[in-house]
Amino acid sequence: MSHTTVRGPFAPDTEVVASYAFSGTSPEDLPFSKLERLTIVRATNDANWVKARNRDGMEGMIPTSYVTESRKEVKLNTMASKPPTVINFKFPHVLNYSRLFHSEATHRRREDGLFLVRESTNFPGDYTLCVCFERKVEHYRVIYKDNKLTIDEEEFFDHLTKLVEHYEQDADGLCTQLKRSVPKQGRREYSVDPEKAFKAAGWSINRQELKLLDSIGKGEFGDVLLGEWQGQKVAVKRLKDSSRAAQGILEEASLMTSLKHNNLVNLLGLVFEDSCILLVTEFMSKGSLVDYLRSRGRFHVSKRDQINFACDTCSGMAYLESQKVVHRDLAARNVLISEEGVAKVCDFGLAHEMNLKLDGGKFPIKWTAPEALRHSKFSNKSDMWSFGILLWEIYSFGRVPYPRIPLADVMKHVEKGYRMEAPDLCPPEVYQLMKDSWNENCNRRPTFHEAYKRLSQLRQSTLA
Ligand code: ADP
Ligand code: MG
Repeated sequence: MSHTTVRGPFAPDTEVVASYAFSGTSPEDLPFSKLERLTIVRATNDANWVKARNRDGMEGMIPTSYVTESRKEVKLNTMASKPPTVINFKFPHVLNYSRLFHSEATHRRREDGLFLVRESTNFPGDYTLCVCFERKVEHYRVIYKDNKLTIDEEEFFDHLTKLVEHYEQDADGLCTQLKRSVPKQGRREYSVDPEKAFKAAGWSINRQELKLLDSIGKGEFGDVLLGEWQGQKVAVKRLKDSSRAAQGILEEASLMTSLKHNNLVNLLGLVFEDSCILLVTEFMSKGSLVDYLRSRGRFHVSKRDQINFACDTCSGMAYLESQKVVHRDLAARNVLISEEGVAKVCDFGLAHEMNLKLDGGKFPIKWTAPEALRHSKFSNKSDMWSFGILLWEIYSFGRVPYPRIPLADVMKHVEKGYRMEAPDLCPPEVYQLMKDSWNENCNRRPTFHEAYKRLSQLRQSTLA
């Protein structure tokens, strides 16, 4: 046996993605799941093995044949994917989200005191003041009260201009005083041409290689089609035009390029055509979880299926949580089932204001945590609330939550402390988890990581 150092195929710091799961055979090995991303640390004496590190920082040996060099992630917008945690003591209604100042160009110029005022997404009629500070963006809700505008309910102003002038003079409780305003842009501008960025990162699919077949669903952005690419069935989201929807879908796609997990619907690539963009993802032959539950019902969906769906979804969400990505629209309709019956979370790139509008009629009120409805305080903990509702959907075989309460009254009841009862034959452990996820205090809700531990314990004891 030779002891000379053979250079492995991967240079240190190369990002690789797992083609197969690897459970490890010795304590020196680093187990990983299919599609997990790893970073190469160094080559070893054996060309078949390299030392690698996972996203949790654990290191160990991995077989090189199990992984391929990953395509790079595409960053169009660094803010949507990783919302910074902003804690503001003075104003409880400060929005926790930084989805404005989207473009890379603005990102680079995100100097302290740069600000803009826009209409509030979740409180139509109100305004939101967005202020850059220490490279983050803080959002302050401007409340319209007794014919006057206020942020802190201490200082009141007749017009926005007066309000802005006031905070230009003095921070008066804001993170910083206002310095320079950004003109409101009708459309987002990327400093990079999205098409070029996706192509350069290896995510572009040649239109000739993609065969389009039947329509399999209707999405927010347009039809979803069945397609065929490289000998496999794929799902294709086609955009009707290249306007706002295209920007939305490109942001979804750019977030998807950075996330890989067996319980997330996996992006395969994009096709750029003259006037439309096709988003190609893995095909989930059994459709959405809610349709699956409804069409099969309690005679065909077993306890084992239910706990598997719950665990799968929770595992995908635990991954998003570890990546500090907030979903915002978790519901059984946004979980898809593969041919093998694996549940995967989709639409996780859609954390955009355009999709979540209270007045749009599409806002998922019954799935949304009270603090998210009220103060736009979306977080992994508000996702956990939605996960509790999703569990309820699974165990009630796809019923619409709060069956007897009109939509307009749900928030009122929930804020008074009303919670749904356990669905028939729901295991007590699952109902306990639902109730924990519906804790009014978001900090008391479990993390997805904890919830997953509880659910997988139950899975072990659940017979078919
Ligand atoms: P949107 O959230 O934009 O409204 P979805 O992504 O939820 O659209 O897709 C709408 C419908 O299309 C889904 O309910 C599902 O029936 C079908 N669909 C979407 N993506 C896939 C996929 N990858 N595989 C199979 N069916 C899909
Ligand atoms: Mg959807």
